Amino acid sequence: MSNVTVCVRFRPLSSRERKIHEDSVCVQGLDAESFVFKDDEEEDITFCFDRVFYQDSEQADIYEFLALPIVADVINGMNGTIITYGQTGAGKTYSMEGPSILECDEHKNGLVQRVVDGLFEHMKSSTDTVTCTMKLSMVEIYMEKVRDLLDLSKDNLQIKEGRNQGIYIAGVSEITVANTSEALCCLARGIANRAVGETQMNLASSRSHCLYVFLVQQESAIDKRLKIGKIILVDLAGSEKADKTGACGRALEEAKTINKSLSALGNVINALTTGKTGHIPYRDSKLTRILQDTLGGNSRTVLLCCCSPSPSDASESLSTLRFGTRTK
Ligand code: ADP
Ligand code: MG
Repeated sequence: MSNVTVCVRFRPLSSRERKIHEDSVCVQGLDAESFVFKDDEEEDITFCFDRVFYQDSEQADIYEFLALPIVADVINGMNGTIITYGQTGAGKTYSMEGPSILECDEHKNGLVQRVVDGLFEHMKSSTDTVTCTMKLSMVEIYMEKVRDLLDLSKDNLQIKEGRNQGIYIAGVSEITVANTSEALCCLARGIANRAVGETQMNLASSRSHCLYVFLVQQESAIDKRLKIGKIILVDLAGSEKADKTGACGRALEEAKTINKSLSALGNVINALTTGKTGHIPYRDSKLTRILQDTLGGNSRTVLLCCCSPSPSDASESLSTLRFGTRTK
C-alpha cells in the first residue's frame, strides 16, 4: 500500500465557456473513481483514480477526502503534503484558497483555511500537559529560486537538512500563530507580497510554485519531549506547454524550468508509488527537495489533478490526466 493518493477535480464551466460550448464537456462520469474523457480529436479514454470530484463538488468534500487524514497525522507528529497540479485556469488556487484566503463565505473556503481550522481544532483539545505551537511559512519557487513571501528581502533561500529537524528552508520566516484568523491574516500578507513582487518583476503568478508550510509542535510538560508534524500545501505553477509559436527569451526559460520541476515531482511520486527502494531523485529540483520529508516514508501525499471540463482545453486536460496516471 502506498501513501500516495491521486485525485482529479473538474471545475465547473465558466460563463464564457458556457456561451461557446453550451453544456458540452469533455468528461462523462462513471462513478466516484472513474470517468470517460471525450476529445473530438481522440478516441474516448476511460480513466481511474483514487477519487474523482466532478463539476458540482464542494470544497468541504475535497477537504474531507484529501486533507482530513493528513491533519490527523500531523497532530500525531507525522508529515504530509497536498499538491494541486494542472494548467492555468484549471482550479488549483480555487481548491487551495477558495475565491480568496479571507473569504467570508465559509462554504467556499479552500483547503488552506480548512487545514488551519482543522489543526487548531485538534490543538484546542490537547491536554494541559502538552504545549502546542503552530508556526507557518510561505514561500514561492520561481526559476529554481526560493523566495520568502513573508519577507521579500529573502529572495534566494537555501534548503538544508538537519539531524533533528529534517529538511528545512534556512532562514525562512516562521510565524507563530495562535488561531485561525491570525494564520489567515499572515497568509493574506504573503499572497499580497507575492502580487507585489510579481508586478515589480513583471511575472505571472502562474509561473511559480507557491508553498504553504504549517508546523505543529507539541511539547510535553512532563518529559519535555517534542513532537513535530508538518503539512505542506503546494499550488503548482501552470503545467501548460509553452506557447508553441511565441515563447522565447524569459517565457521559454520559465517554461523549461517549470517543466523540469514538474517532471522531477512526477518522477519522485512515481518512484514512491512503484515502491522502488533504491534512489529517489529528490535532489533534481528545489520543489522535490523541500517536499522530501513530506513525501515518502510514512508521510501521506495527495496529488489533486485540476482540470477544465471545457472542450477547448481538452488537450491540456488530457496531459494533466496522463501526468496523474503516470504517478500512480
Ligand atoms: P488556477 O489556479 O489553476 O490557475 P483558478 O483556481 O484561479 O485556476 O481558477 C480559474 C477560475 O475558475 C477562477 O475564476 C476560479 O474562481 C474559477 N473556479 C475554479 N474552480 C472552481 C470551482 N470548483 N467552483 C467555482 N469556480 C471555480
Ligand atoms: Mg492559480
